[in-house]
Amino acid sequence: MDVAKSISEGLARKVLAANINGEVWDASRPINDDASLKLLTWDDTEAKSTFWHSTAHLMAEAVESMFPGVKFWVGPAIDKGFYYDMDLGDRQMSEDDLAALEKKMAELAKQNNVYQRKAISKADAVQYFAEKGDEYKLDLLQNLNDGEITLYTQGGFTDLCRGPHIPNTGFIKAVKLTNVAGAYWKGDEKNKQLTRVYGVSFPAQKELDEYLAMLEEAKKRDHRKLGKELSIFTMDDDVGQGLPLWMPNGTIIIEELERLAKETESAAGYKRVVTPHIAKESMYLTSGHLPYYADSMFPPMELDGTKYYLKAMNCPHHHKIFDAEQKSYKDLPYRIAEYGTCYRYEQSGELFGLMRVRCLHMNDAHIYCSKEQFADEFRAVNDMYIKYFKIFGIDKYVMRLSLHDPAKLGQKYVNEPELWKETESMVRNVLIESNIPYVEVQDEAAFYGPKIDVQIWSAIGREFTLATNQVDFNSGNKFKLSYTNQHNAPEVPLIIHRAPLGTHERFIGFLLEHYAGKFPVWVAPLQVKILPISDKFMDYANTILQTLKKSDIRVEIDDRQEKIGRKIRDTEMLKVPYMLVVGEKEMNEGKVSIRRQGKGDLGSKALDEFVNEIVSEIKERRGEETAVASS
Ligand SMILES: [Zn+2]
Ligand SMILES: [Zn+2]
Repeated sequence: MDVAKSISEGLARKVLAANINGEVWDASRPINDDASLKLLTWDDTEAKSTFWHSTAHLMAEAVESMFPGVKFWVGPAIDKGFYYDMDLGDRQMSEDDLAALEKKMAELAKQNNVYQRKAISKADAVQYFAEKGDEYKLDLLQNLNDGEITLYTQGGFTDLCRGPHIPNTGFIKAVKLTNVAGAYWKGDEKNKQLTRVYGVSFPAQKELDEYLAMLEEAKKRDHRKLGKELSIFTMDDDVGQGLPLWMPNGTIIIEELERLAKETESAAGYKRVVTPHIAKESMYLTSGHLPYYADSMFPPMELDGTKYYLKAMNCPHHHKIFDAEQKSYKDLPYRIAEYGTCYRYEQSGELFGLMRVRCLHMNDAHIYCSKEQFADEFRAVNDMYIKYFKIFGIDKYVMRLSLHDPAKLGQKYVNEPELWKETESMVRNVLIESNIPYVEVQDEAAFYGPKIDVQIWSAIGREFTLATNQVDFNSGNKFKLSYTNQHNAPEVPLIIHRAPLGTHERFIGFLLEHYAGKFPVWVAPLQVKILPISDKFMDYANTILQTLKKSDIRVEIDDRQEKIGRKIRDTEMLKVPYMLVVGEKEMNEGKVSIRRQGKGDLGSKALDEFVNEIVSEIKERRGEETAVASS
């Protein structure tokens, strides 16, 4: 905090915590040795979790004042907000209590109470919580060592906590307690059920308002709700949990996405392959999926004494294709792509609409290249992401680059110190040169190389993890892949795993929310609906239908005996991009009256003029406007 103040008072007012040598600390904690320092403000993820966790303490203080004698278990920050697990004895907390708690929290926050850190010996801590009769904190203390135990006090509330926290409660300007739920102690259903209160907080009321509005909008755009209304996909108990069935409308979207991927990949020099959905146990032992990944795979089926597994990844199959023929440096980079079907065993509690499923179709490809080719290949993969982001109107994205920890080479990470350094710096340079927003995370790489998670935000500002790109300098060795280099010596290729469009399941789930179901014309299941004002104009409507079909436009006629107003309303509900209203005037002049989803009446045009326009809109895959136009 002193450093922040020495820079400016304005900065000091915004500092929530500090990153010291990679660890998050209270901003007020003394720094006794030279250290690398980053001041953390609300924009930093680490600051947000510190803020939310500190709000959990504030909530605990409010709960204690309303429910004296309450005992607390743990109160961590989560993805968006925080929770605290508590034992209320024989009392109950209902949704109605939350408003009163929020009020109490606002009152306590205004007191600007400092989060005071105090190191304490284990004996003293045990004595303190034993006197309080708090068996939960005593349980936590069992696993802590002397010298690493701290208490934090703010206002009238003291908690066993390792921190860090924000400077004082005054930073918390807006709180929403969202939910009360039951949670078994330590997640074990044999244990007592505790009360878990969830909440979220912000440094300004405006941000909370925006967040709540976003949640409201997200509810309307829920991909499970829209998926049903628009007949995109369905689930059936007889088929099984987490196994979506793609209906005709969803299948059109899938085919359009695959067409886009095939065109793009073909232009970028990829070749397509097709591989079986199962493979023998031995291959997954080679790849290392077995035994380590066995829990995430479906159990094997046995045939003639051999075990076969449903594939959870396409990689090993692709490695076998690389290996099928002798390769020389002239064959590299060797890029093979497949919309591969994978099966993963997700716990039934983890399944969620299209977002977490047991069968997925992945926009997969593997690039086998030399070290010299790596940077260019990686750059080309990034360019492909950016191209897709433009097409889908994804304006906000971040690449999260996970790096290795040199201290863990040979254990957590494959022991190739030079390759790690080289590839990490190549990846970083490409990200910088391409002007791609990215963050670096230490010690989260994959075993076999640096990893890039791609995070995108939907039109309403919700975050999705789209896909992971990985650099792999281990599988080549495991599968004994090699090519002959310029000096006629065998060399192991580097491998890039990439899937810019993720899986159909997750990506279409994302698109449903992003577009609120109002797909751009090129990907919309039904592109045009013709609405004759009455039966008299059915012949003309049919002429239009035939003309549009000749240009491969997905079109239908609404031939019901309904008033035109009703026909328009129903078509709007189905979010069809174009409606063509035809009556006497249109028929006589060879025209169509055009209504555009989200824009209303566009006036009338000659039929061939409309056809030319829609064909180019589809060909160019235009659609940014619709992404922004929302409910
Ligand atoms: Zn804490
Ligand atoms: Zn792969």
